Amino acid sequence: MQPTRSFPSRRGILRGAAALTAVPYALLPDAQAAAGPQAVDYPGAAWHPASRANYTPSNRPRAHPLHYVVIHVAQTTYSGTLSVFRNRRTKVSAHYVVRSSDGKVAQCVRESDIAWHAGNWDYNTRSIGIEHEGWVDRPRYFTDAMYERSARLTAAICARYDIPRNRAHIIGHHEVPGSDHTDPGRHWDWKRYLRLVNSY
Ligand SMILES: [Zn+2]
Repeated sequence: MQPTRSFPSRRGILRGAAALTAVPYALLPDAQAAAGPQAVDYPGAAWHPASRANYTPSNRPRAHPLHYVVIHVAQTTYSGTLSVFRNRRTKVSAHYVVRSSDGKVAQCVRESDIAWHAGNWDYNTRSIGIEHEGWVDRPRYFTDAMYERSARLTAAICARYDIPRNRAHIIGHHEVPGSDHTDPGRHWDWKRYLRLVNSY
């Protein structure tokens, strides 16, 4: 992902979140997406819904079988990424965002829906997208906690949809045909990541 605008301050985001809790749940635009007995697909993920304007509702895997997990680096912070996905003008989203400091996982789009992350409609329809807080040229953001919790998430996705745990199916954004993005970049340790994914 490459954000194209500046974002509200952390303070502004928190104020916005506090205001939201005062609104009756059923009146929220994303209430339908958030409703139901299971708001997240991955236990332990925090639900931070993307704007309804930033993804395509679907009923995967019935409508489209899932073949790929696409790994991204966000080129911004965790909260900045959530803010980009919440903004209906950005036209971008991913299913999950992983925080650098502790590997905390946010879910922004249901796995049954098609997130707009790969820059390729065919790959969007057949993949789950995972964003990671950080920048491709700042490897210090790629912490042990982030690798481990992201790999655990990818392992769960592969198990759920029978996706082989190899580099042909767990791919970088730069490997999506037609992509002009470089993420996750040369500092992303694929050997380590795949070893972790296969250990869970
Ligand atoms: Zn990307």
